Amino acid sequence: MTDWSTLSDACGSAEHVPALLDRFEADPSGVWSELMDHLCPQLDTVFSASFAALPRLAGFASSGGEEDRRWVLLAAGAIMACAPSGDEVFEVFSTPIADLHRLTDQCLRETADAENYIYLLQSLLSFEGVEIWDRCLEGLQTGEYEVDCPYCSVNMFIVIGGDDNFAASDDYDLQEVEKTPLHPLAADELEGQAKRLRDRALADGQQLVARGLAYLFGQADCPDCGTVFSVAERVLARWRVAP
Ligand SMILES: [Zn+2]
Repeated sequence: MTDWSTLSDACGSAEHVPALLDRFEADPSGVWSELMDHLCPQLDTVFSASFAALPRLAGFASSGGEEDRRWVLLAAGAIMACAPSGDEVFEVFSTPIADLHRLTDQCLRETADAENYIYLLQSLLSFEGVEIWDRCLEGLQTGEYEVDCPYCSVNMFIVIGGDDNFAASDDYDLQEVEKTPLHPLAADELEGQAKRLRDRALADGQQLVARGLAYLFGQADCPDCGTVFSVAERVLARWRVAP
């Protein structure tokens, strides 16, 4: 049995966490924000009680209906996205993490909505210990990444997902700015995680997500100096400097 009084969450002692988890089980969408405030505030900080909650979250996910399950998987995914790759929690909680991974894998196949799909895909990666992409795929949902040029360092926006996919160095919404078109990778140019994610999205019928991934892992031209660079590498570089 977990001795919650010896654990902590964002508010101090985790004694109240079992009752909070009971309420989350009864109403995952309604209590999700409150649960995250305690176990994963700003979706970027975790506590001993956060990982200790994984076995119960895995239990909720295996018994809940489709929508409830999604909220539970997103909560557990947010917690695991805060665990560094190779952290001991992957071993200590290997059984619930394996269950959460299997249920997320299944949920992805059944999810039609692209927004939900992208967040679940991040959860899947977080249970595998994949760093950065377990929280940076969501730019495909918001439609925008902010990166800097590897040569001239100018800050720019990479806009992906609409009819127009481009790089622009200023606020492209407010003014007429120079936009340079992005260069998506062709199917046979994708490798590694990029290929795996795109193949997966296609197999799940998520054509728009697959198309976004080809742009994310493709190339852009700096609108200021013309340097050609890998979009994904600049997303990773930005994250490593200022997570
Ligand atoms: Zn440049």
